[in-house]
Amino acid sequence: MEHQSRFPSAEPAVTAATKTGLAPLQLLVVDDDDVDRERIIRCLRHFPGEVNIRQACSLAEATAAINETPFDTIIVDGRLGDGEGLEILSQIGADQDVICPVILVTGFSTERDAVKAMRSGVFDYIPKNELDSARLVPVVQNGLRWADAQAKLCEAEKQLQRRSLYDSLTDLPNRDLFFDRLDQACANAARYKITFAVMMMDLDHFKQVNDTLGHAAGDEVLRQVGKRLMGLCRQSDTISRLSGDEFAAICLGINSAETATIVAEKILAAVNSPMIVNGKVLSVGISIGIVLCPQQGDERQKLMASADGAMYMAKTGLRKIVCASDAEAEPGTLPAQALLNELEEAMDRREFAMYYQPKINLNTYKVVGVEALMRWCTPLGGVVAPDKFIPIIEPSYLLYKFTMMSIELVLEQMADWAQRGIMLDVALNISARMLEDGNLAEEFKKRFAKFNVRAEMLTLEITETAIIQNPEAARRVAANLSAAGIKLSIDDFGAGFTSFSHLQNFSIPEIKIDKDYIINLKENSFGASLVKCVSAFCKSENIRLVAEGVEHRESWQLLREMGCMIGQGYSIARPAPAAEFEVWLSTSEQRLKNAEYEYLH
Ligand code: C2E
Ligand code: CA
Ligand code: CA
Repeated sequence: MEHQSRFPSAEPAVTAATKTGLAPLQLLVVDDDDVDRERIIRCLRHFPGEVNIRQACSLAEATAAINETPFDTIIVDGRLGDGEGLEILSQIGADQDVICPVILVTGFSTERDAVKAMRSGVFDYIPKNELDSARLVPVVQNGLRWADAQAKLCEAEKQLQRRSLYDSLTDLPNRDLFFDRLDQACANAARYKITFAVMMMDLDHFKQVNDTLGHAAGDEVLRQVGKRLMGLCRQSDTISRLSGDEFAAICLGINSAETATIVAEKILAAVNSPMIVNGKVLSVGISIGIVLCPQQGDERQKLMASADGAMYMAKTGLRKIVCASDAEAEPGTLPAQALLNELEEAMDRREFAMYYQPKINLNTYKVVGVEALMRWCTPLGGVVAPDKFIPIIEPSYLLYKFTMMSIELVLEQMADWAQRGIMLDVALNISARMLEDGNLAEEFKKRFAKFNVRAEMLTLEITETAIIQNPEAARRVAANLSAAGIKLSIDDFGAGFTSFSHLQNFSIPEIKIDKDYIINLKENSFGASLVKCVSAFCKSENIRLVAEGVEHRESWQLLREMGCMIGQGYSIARPAPAAEFEVWLSTSEQRLKNAEYEYLH
């Protein structure tokens, strides 16, 4: 409550003039003796300023009056019919915001009474036999001055408290207050079984806003995000700005990951919706980590650590909302952080490189495309195969970064080749989990533009099992990718043994038969039957069929006979770094022709 000073000037005297423009002074006079009450009121007539006097004859009446309106000063008799005058103090004290000097007027005036009264919080004490206006008016004036100073002190204290507990930019509770509320929530969860969720939130690309639009714009974004978060949460929830672009919430009464996720989705939508800052329309993203109490912990440190971990996964992974419960559901499936750190550093140091392996037409020996296969070339000269790092990266938050790095490596190579007149279709393997990312096609499109490569030159290989696991997402992404001009290829076909009916929903230009069926391809084997069957299907559906793992020369003729015209494998070429592949490519047709000729004759 804003305190309106009755003493705007430093001049301490209270005169009618200083009260100009202020509401009349509200006084309550409480005495059960009519004559005494009249005497007090008469004394007050000499008060220099407008005064409204309300009278009460008992403690009960006084209490009712106090509850009805606030008073500037109360003058009360020491002994009332229904109690002691001092008791009035407890009535005023009930409301912290009210500062009201109480002046005790009593007939029994001993030194001890006076001390007792002052100790209980009475402002001043006047024996009835000394009561006159010369005595009372200055006491009232001093009381008002005291109340004024008290109010100012109170206000300053409140401000100070607010500054130490609230964030001055967003006016949200700060880290200290948040921790305090979290401790309290933990205590309530233990005692009253009130469950709750903690959400850790971090804005995406906030640094960019600061860097490009300046700190004032950054502050404005934080303010607007704070407001949006406040707008979403219930009164009982705590929303806090922990630091920088990090916010957190305690949502009481939530007891399942599902409910928490619904709330988080609302937050996500609210923050994501465009905001206008400095006349510019901005879109700010947010990553949310959720932890539940007591499911994931019942004390602050544990909850904060889990929420932090979940938020980190959301920040760096595909999903913008991660529940710590998901992350912990299958321990062991999450790779050790140290390993992930090492891989991420290797990415940043550009230690990953693509090897290329050709797909050739087995009739013409022409190269119809290449598959890009990732290698980790360690600083000590080792080359690590993808089966060593893909399984670690795939379930982790690194997958998105890895995928974007892969596409950029491939597009960089394609752009380089195009400049030198080497026009090749390139196939890139893509992990199943990337299909969950609705933005994939958009992100790829941006990069085609950046590297000036035509989308039609790229094929994405998606394993058959990925499609079975999540046919709906796969269908959606396939449609988006096709619309963007990118071709799809079903990899490791036969490994999951899909019924062909699954393929109906896709426009698939290519199928690659799993190499397990091809490596040791023999006539009349199960592999041979599969190739024949798939080959007939592909012919009628106009799908290009590729045999992968063509490790032996003798397979070439067999494949041709079975109607599979495209092969990829060690007997044609091993995956090799781009430069090595180019050397192979320059003489490939003739060499392949000669090699087979030699083999057959
Ligand atoms: P994949 O997509 O089935 O790739 C074909 C694998 O078969 C490659 O192994 C290739 O080197 C190997 N291969 C080719 N011809 C023959 C052959 O004649 N005999 C035998 N035994 N193997 C042959 P690589 O390069 O070790 O890749 C293994 C897997 O790692 C790939 O299987 C693919 O699933 C994954 N992978 C590779 N690069 C990437 C990538 O950039 N992103 C993702 N998400 N996965 C990748
Ligand atoms: Ca592949
Ligand atoms: Ca394959």
